[in-house]
Amino acid sequence: MNKFIFVSGGVCSSLGKGVAASSLGALLEGRGLNVRMVKCDPYINVDAGTMSPYQHGEVYVTDDGAETDLDLGNYARFTKSPLSRANSITTGQVYDAVIRKEREGRYLGRCVQVIPHITDEIKARILAVAKEDPDTDVIIVEIGGTVGDIESIPFLETARQIIHEMGRENVLSVHLTLLPEVAGGELKTKPTQHSVKAMQEQGIQPDILICRAPVMLDEATRRKIALFTNVAPDAVFTSYDVSTTIYEIPLIFSEQKLDQVVLSRMGVVSRHADLSSWCSMMERFAARKGKVRIGIVGKYMELHDAYKSVYEALFHAGLEGGVEVELVKIDSSRLEGLDNVDSILGPEAEGGGVDGILVPGGFGQRGISGMVKAAAWARLNKVPYFGVCLGMQIMVIDWARHVLGLEDADSTEFNQETRHPVVSLMEEQEDITAYGATMRLGNWDCVAEQNTLILAAYGDKDIRERHRHRYEFVNRYRQEMSAAGLRLAAFTPDGKLVECVEWPDHPWGLGVQFHPEFKSKPTSAAPLFRDFIAAARDVRSKGAQ
Ligand code: GLN
Repeated sequence: MNKFIFVSGGVCSSLGKGVAASSLGALLEGRGLNVRMVKCDPYINVDAGTMSPYQHGEVYVTDDGAETDLDLGNYARFTKSPLSRANSITTGQVYDAVIRKEREGRYLGRCVQVIPHITDEIKARILAVAKEDPDTDVIIVEIGGTVGDIESIPFLETARQIIHEMGRENVLSVHLTLLPEVAGGELKTKPTQHSVKAMQEQGIQPDILICRAPVMLDEATRRKIALFTNVAPDAVFTSYDVSTTIYEIPLIFSEQKLDQVVLSRMGVVSRHADLSSWCSMMERFAARKGKVRIGIVGKYMELHDAYKSVYEALFHAGLEGGVEVELVKIDSSRLEGLDNVDSILGPEAEGGGVDGILVPGGFGQRGISGMVKAAAWARLNKVPYFGVCLGMQIMVIDWARHVLGLEDADSTEFNQETRHPVVSLMEEQEDITAYGATMRLGNWDCVAEQNTLILAAYGDKDIRERHRHRYEFVNRYRQEMSAAGLRLAAFTPDGKLVECVEWPDHPWGLGVQFHPEFKSKPTSAAPLFRDFIAAARDVRSKGAQ
């Protein structure tokens, strides 16, 4: 029988529930269990695809092309759980499904209600993940939002029903709270007490508490929390602020025996914990020498979550390359009015120059000319450049404008009137007017050409990566672009779409139409990120000689 763990949060948002749930998943995998991760999102959007990265952070794309919450990215980085459309459940999807069924007359004249119809739909979706693979041992279900929010009530109610139906030994409630520090350094337990009361009002007694706090809770505080919340003292854990990396959290939880307590509560006999891959990752972290400064030239710079997977992939690449990656976040619009971008990118810039430039994915016209300037600067100064999706299109625009001399070359996304549309809407996209889930999404195959950086990175010409875009390199410019030296380095298997371009006579300049960041893990960096950072490191050390 499958076991379920519901992870909820209290007191306030942004406590790192996704990382806590993922870390627990990693620990249970270390015990040899087969873990699946599910996210329940209380928002009414059907998926995250239409949400602004400014408000909600990045859209994480799965193999099957679902546009999901960024927490699925955490699951992918910490665990081996397969992730697809089924692993991301939103209020919007649930209501959409129930209303469709109602319109089809499938409720046989009954009044359709939150309980049982909405909760049944949520339950069916959670159980469907459990049924996908008969070897699944544990399903960890993270409930987004904070207990007490109106929106999360149906999800908590579903958890209550599942606990009631399957029994406490099969279903655990893990609740994450915050212990704020007041003047004098005292940690306050009251918000945690209230948060657990709010859970009890929903009919759920948490089994395990994970308390976010600046430091490890002492025994007296744990006992006090236990006394007020009906949770055993040995089931009160601390997720203290880490100065190293979030990837240390599985080890921090393991030291406190979180996995032991979870397994004994569920009556699961498991093998001895094997966390060797996490331990060796932390050894690589501690052994890093020197650093590289990577300029991220994009448009959603204020919110770290907007390019979350890109930043994480750079960090992973640094672990593999033995260097610290310093992120230099540059709003591309800052480059727009400048004749010479050296003052921001070059050695005279505040903090020193950048050793590499990455232009990440993005949509819309704002800031584009600044990105083109950054690409041209990297090309001419032989600074490693990595273009991800939009960043590849920027390389193509720069090449057309500055090498071919097609002055107004552009993507039709930014200028519909251009005489040289070097990037344009894919044919099949031309008639689409709806915004949700209408892009080229999810895993697509591409084939790398011989003697290319991309082939060297993957070590295999057959590549499968995730996509999320509408626009493409325009084929009638292939001949002119490559005659001038731009390497068209990978194509779709039918040869119709260009998937990768590379600069000639350059230490490392490459752009891909896909998003390799989604498959990067702390224990194995995405190949292109790994090689980009290695190139930046090598160029930097040569410069220092
Ligand atoms: N806006 C571009 C497109 O739709 C790039 C998308 C992206 O970077 N994800 O093709």
